[in-house]
Amino acid sequence: MKVLKFGGTSVGSAQRMKEVAKLITDGEKKIVVLSAMSGTTNTLVEISDYLYKKNPEGANEMINKLEAKYKKHIDELFATAEYKQKGLEVIKSHFDYIRSYTKDLFTLFEEKVVLAQGELISTALVNFYLQECGVKSVMLPALEYMRTDKNAEPDPVYIKDKLLAQLDLYPEAEIYITQGFICRNAYGEIDNLQRGGSDYTASLIGAAVNASEIQIWTDIDGMHNNDPRVVDKTSPVRQLHFEEAAELAYFGAKILHPTCIQPAKYANIPVRLLNTLDPTAPGTLICNETEKEKIKAVAAKDDITAIKIKSSRMLLAHGFLRKVFEIFESYQTPIDMICTSEVGVSVSVDNTKHLNEILDDLKKYGTVTVDKDMCIICVVGDLDWENVGFEAKALDAMRNIPVRMISFGGSNYNISFLIRECDKKIALQSLSDLLFNDK
Ligand code: ASP
Ligand code: MG
Repeated sequence: MKVLKFGGTSVGSAQRMKEVAKLITDGEKKIVVLSAMSGTTNTLVEISDYLYKKNPEGANEMINKLEAKYKKHIDELFATAEYKQKGLEVIKSHFDYIRSYTKDLFTLFEEKVVLAQGELISTALVNFYLQECGVKSVMLPALEYMRTDKNAEPDPVYIKDKLLAQLDLYPEAEIYITQGFICRNAYGEIDNLQRGGSDYTASLIGAAVNASEIQIWTDIDGMHNNDPRVVDKTSPVRQLHFEEAAELAYFGAKILHPTCIQPAKYANIPVRLLNTLDPTAPGTLICNETEKEKIKAVAAKDDITAIKIKSSRMLLAHGFLRKVFEIFESYQTPIDMICTSEVGVSVSVDNTKHLNEILDDLKKYGTVTVDKDMCIICVVGDLDWENVGFEAKALDAMRNIPVRMISFGGSNYNISFLIRECDKKIALQSLSDLLFNDK
């Protein structure tokens, strides 16, 4: 069985919902994960914000506006009076429920309940629409099987158990519709898998039912080999290893939630990124295979700060690096890149909340230099150290650019450069020209 996930814009209007319905009704049994209609979760966050600030009028105004928008969707989505009525009842019950939270104390707990309404509504509407079209569609309530444990991590054993039990209730169904993003926590309270978490839901479900494939449907033709906003002539990457995809997701290729990948990777279930606006395009396949001797893509991450600690006296003394790392740890600041030499160590960070304290502490151990407004350029592909010539080729693209750090050998899939943010465009273009466009 396949698991298909559609994001907020893919179900962002009645028309788009109808297109999704067309895409998923091919007679094959499948689980369909939906996000809230685009903009809804953001609006629910704003409503919560008003309620935190004890401004029920502000909240009510937004609730009414959102409800009016949904009423219009209902009118456009359903053809028959019977289903228009069902749709209106869904809207009314969820919005009345949200309104009931404007009267009392509002805490994190209530916020999570409010945020959950977006997915509950979108799935109910699509499920009814499919039924109106005569499709055997049933609802799998995520709150019955999606659960996190005491560490707020998904609980795969519970999820599998409960999900399989839910599926067993409807052996005849063709389509199982379910909510992305929402779950219950270890205490049974309504919770969520963090913003953008619907991809994660799809991946967890895929692993639980041992799906043949997980499809993530968005509005772009898969992952591109470079940032189309910065570089001319990028093209979609057809295949990626899970680890290549994870590196790219982390370094700003925004189309896949980084944690989403893990359950699918461990269960060895291929993930395909597809485009609702061009459904027959091949998209990007992510699986546990590497295309040998191929550089796949580059990505960049801005707002990076480089810190160099130079200490001829201490560096090679054992314990020096530990002391340096402990300082970052004590300020909960993750390090991205690291380069060492005999007399110093350079690291890069993107979280500068405690930069001044960190610098103060580091000065006990050496001379400290800081470079701000830097950017990590990450080149991803089969970069196994035994392959010859690939590092040289990537480096060649940096020929006219000052490079602050180079990191290679940390994984088999990546070489990273730290450069100035103002050189990013030239660097990315030069990499595209040399690696992908044979210039
Ligand atoms: N609706 C949620 C959000 O906007 C989850 C998702 O779309 O993945 O963050
Ligand atoms: Mg998303």
